[in-house]
Amino acid sequence: MVSAQQRDTLSLPEVNKLRRALLAWYAASGRDLPWRRTQDPYAIWVSEIMLQQTQVKTVIPYYERWLKQFPTIAALAAADQQQVLKAWQGLGYYARARNLHRAAQIIMQQHRGMFPITLEAVLALPGIGRTTAGGILSAALNQPVAILDGNVKRVLARLMALQVPPNRVVEQLWSWSEMLLDRQQPRDFNQALMDLGATLCTPKNPACLLCPWRDHCQAQQLTMQNQIPYSNSRSAVPHKQIGVAVIWNDQGQILIDRRPQDGLLGGLWEFPGGKLEPGETVEECIQREILEELGMVIEVGDHLVNVDHAYSHFHVTLNVHHCRHISGEPQPIECDEVRWVTLEELEHYPFPKANVRIIEALHQYVAQS
Ligand code: SF4
Repeated sequence: MVSAQQRDTLSLPEVNKLRRALLAWYAASGRDLPWRRTQDPYAIWVSEIMLQQTQVKTVIPYYERWLKQFPTIAALAAADQQQVLKAWQGLGYYARARNLHRAAQIIMQQHRGMFPITLEAVLALPGIGRTTAGGILSAALNQPVAILDGNVKRVLARLMALQVPPNRVVEQLWSWSEMLLDRQQPRDFNQALMDLGATLCTPKNPACLLCPWRDHCQAQQLTMQNQIPYSNSRSAVPHKQIGVAVIWNDQGQILIDRRPQDGLLGGLWEFPGGKLEPGETVEECIQREILEELGMVIEVGDHLVNVDHAYSHFHVTLNVHHCRHISGEPQPIECDEVRWVTLEELEHYPFPKANVRIIEALHQYVAQS
């Protein structure tokens, strides 16, 4: 049911005023971002994917390095997946990199290397949803396709004083985004909407006094801008304890394994280990996991480091121990591949962020011993 104070639509004169005000503000105050200096759909696509879960200031150096390393769709399609994951290392959510790579190969096979220009064809590529497709087609080709990322959801929820969590009424939000989109200037309008959410209509304490939409914003008029958007009540985030082994052999090499392609962090390398079972010590867990996953017997030695890391739906603590190889050739029972490598060679492999901190701890340990 719609609250008495919530708007569910806007009149055409109101829409026109909102468009004009937003575009004028953007012309004066829009951000200068590297992907706004190009209309190359490939470069804009890369930026859109990187920005899906990551902040602008983190993305900029990755974006610039990526385009140097893979300047075209053809160059990306021809790259080895390990190079692609290495270039992505540290950005997290690695399915984004694997999908970019796979989509580049599909574009080479099905679109003769040209980024597709219809919404239907863009949506058929792996890793591209409705808002990313809208972002690419409007920014690169000035097509009138709406967007609805997290920032835009918040702005629209406040503009209309939406009094339910946005994720419960996503189609309603899409219809507002489409209603407002300026069909004469879709590129600038969508960019402006993203900037408004990122710079003024921020999650906490929005800067309403500076906002081009303040005279029309229902949340501002009801002084509800700090309550909207309403949030879904969240259950506690699970916390997993993981035992991790840095297994040394007699040649001073360390064992690493490559995670299966499907699933979290697929295709990346890691130090082997697994989740503690109830009543188990970290040492017992490591011994059991290495036997089950690699078919090896090891001796668990000194503690190296604990690493805490937050993923989107859970937290982990990696309890890392030095271990010594006793018997059994390592077998990739629950991973795609295993390798013995030296400490120096570790930097050539793509690792998840939490494992990079183990590598740093290993370098410190070797420097001090
Ligand atoms: S007036 Fe305030 S709450 Fe409304 S859109 Fe602008 S910044 Fe957001």
